[in-house]
Amino acid sequence: MNYHKYDAVIVGAGGAGLMAALYASRGANVAVVSKLYPTRSHTGAAQGGIGAALGNLEEDHWEWHAFDTVKGSDYLADQDAVDIMCKDAVDIVLELEHMGLPFDRTPDGKISQRPFGGHTNNDTKKPVRRACHAADRTGHMILQTLYQQCIKNEVQFYDEYQFMDLLVTDGRVSGIVAYQINTGELHVFHCKAVMFATGGWGRLWNITSNAHSLTGDAPAVLLNKGYPMEDMEFFQFHPTGIYKMGILITEGVRGEGGVLINGKGERFMERYAPTIKDLASRDVISRAIYLEVAEGRGIEGKDYVYLDVRPETVNKYFEQDGIKNPDGSPRTITAEDIERKLPDIADFCRTYLGVDPIKDPMPIQPTAHYAMGGIPTDADGRVLVDAQGTILPGAYAAGEVACVSVHGANRLGTNSLVDLVVFGKRGGMAMMDFCNQVDLPALPDDPEGDVQAMLEFLLEGDSGTSAANIRKAMQEIMMRNVGVFRTEELLTTALERVRELKKQFRTVYVADKGKRFNTDLLEAWELGNMLELAEVTTLSALNRTESRGGHARDDYAERNDDDWLKHTFIQRDGENYQIDYKPVTIGRYQPQKRVY
Ligand SMILES: Cc1cc2nc3c(=O)[nH]c(=O)nc-3n(C[C@H](O)[C@H](O)[C@H](O)COP(=O)(O)OP(=O)(O)OC[C@H]3O[C@@H](n4cnc5c(N)ncnc54)[C@H](O)[C@@H]3O)c2cc1C
Repeated sequence: MNYHKYDAVIVGAGGAGLMAALYASRGANVAVVSKLYPTRSHTGAAQGGIGAALGNLEEDHWEWHAFDTVKGSDYLADQDAVDIMCKDAVDIVLELEHMGLPFDRTPDGKISQRPFGGHTNNDTKKPVRRACHAADRTGHMILQTLYQQCIKNEVQFYDEYQFMDLLVTDGRVSGIVAYQINTGELHVFHCKAVMFATGGWGRLWNITSNAHSLTGDAPAVLLNKGYPMEDMEFFQFHPTGIYKMGILITEGVRGEGGVLINGKGERFMERYAPTIKDLASRDVISRAIYLEVAEGRGIEGKDYVYLDVRPETVNKYFEQDGIKNPDGSPRTITAEDIERKLPDIADFCRTYLGVDPIKDPMPIQPTAHYAMGGIPTDADGRVLVDAQGTILPGAYAAGEVACVSVHGANRLGTNSLVDLVVFGKRGGMAMMDFCNQVDLPALPDDPEGDVQAMLEFLLEGDSGTSAANIRKAMQEIMMRNVGVFRTEELLTTALERVRELKKQFRTVYVADKGKRFNTDLLEAWELGNMLELAEVTTLSALNRTESRGGHARDDYAERNDDDWLKHTFIQRDGENYQIDYKPVTIGRYQPQKRVY
């Protein structure tokens, strides 16, 4: 057995994992296990910014940020956790700056901020500049900065090791089993605490902004061990993915003045959100695009619309809306501003679409983007094993994989990066304290036995269905039936289909029987995880008979606070699943109808 002993093991090296590692390593012996080389984690793809009420360009308060977050969440977020996030964001962004993160600057040297969807001045209801950015490469800069700091702190990295199992002894976490990708060997990490920071699972859908690696491995392993997931029905579709490809065009484009235009040349968001227009929250805009398309107002009647950031268009609407600079002068934008502020976006469009965003509008459609639900935790990252708040000692989760819940039914742009650093830090500190208080538990007998048996099952046989075919079928049905709009009929069909695919998966055929870089085997294993999450997502969506945030039911079009102001907990009960509920923590903000 390849054996390693640490105080704490962190699975995942994105923003959440690295922030946790940085803090846990101040007082504990920490290893980070990641299937990707750390700086290839999806956090590096985050474009637009990280939200914090610094008020560098205009008046702003963390309480305004908190209200916008709660409103954006369609009142499903837990308001105590939201307060922690929005308040801590201010200091943590400055801390990142002091670590060396190269933010863009205002002319007087402060961190530059731009508007983003759903972030408002609570008095005037107009967009406020809250998103701190480093061009359109904010996540890349966060990841590089945190990785450098971890190296400096001598955190041990196990790169290209795939987590496959959690070890639990007498009701306490005692380690993990990981597969070394370049050798095919199994490794046992024996430890007091494990943090899951494995990111999202957008690969369940065929149009997605998410990287290939985002397959929901940790939630699936936990579900299979009988632990619950929270609010799985809430998955965000970002309104502006590149048509047919899903590659994200940041909301920062609309923050800089870009507008959405339908096939009749209309700026249609004026109808759906008269005050905040193209900067309404993502769920609202994705539904508006879907409705425009459904009513035949897509471009040339097809299923996409335009995102237009050409200077002449933007300046026309700036003038029409009376948009001003902080000094009161009329705001304008030039081609050079776009090249400087959105260089990667300009590049993506030229490379993938052959469209120059300075000269032409960009064809876009909603793309599967972000998991609001996930592994239930408290505000210190401790994993909850039921709706009553019982914890699993030694288990932690942070980042997109976790559900604290600060995003409720719909996440505001820039709030994931905040979530990673705020709750990554808190989870890392809580883990360190825990490790200093407890002894190392014993390992279970034959710790890697289950993983070995599962890999043998996947590798046996010399015929069957390929993982790629099953995956494609799953992604298509999820996109069509468990997407922006849902109905009982669509969801029931999806559930049947996903269950059939799960059966087919039992005959999945892995052609490569080798040990080195066996991506065929790993992709098959990941597909098993995705099918598990597809089933619980669909079941949770079928169960919630209302519309809220990212979960829009055509057959139950209204939000229903009397019956549904509660979180869903779904967990295995033998071959079936059972659903339980946890009340939402309300604080200063009583649920209201959302008006933008
Ligand atoms: C294109 C794009 C743009 C975005 N822009 C923004 C933005 O501007 N602002 C914002 O706030 N949010 C943005 N988001 C969302 C945000 O970037 C993500 O939610 C966030 O980065 C997730 O970070 P994380 O640390 O939780 O996980 P990730 O950064 O996704 O990292 C996951 C880690 O887990 C590891 N891992 C996964 N499975 C395993 C396994 N089985 N074994 C071992 N390791 C494993 C991976 O190797 C990786 O290191 C964007 C997302 C996308 C896709």
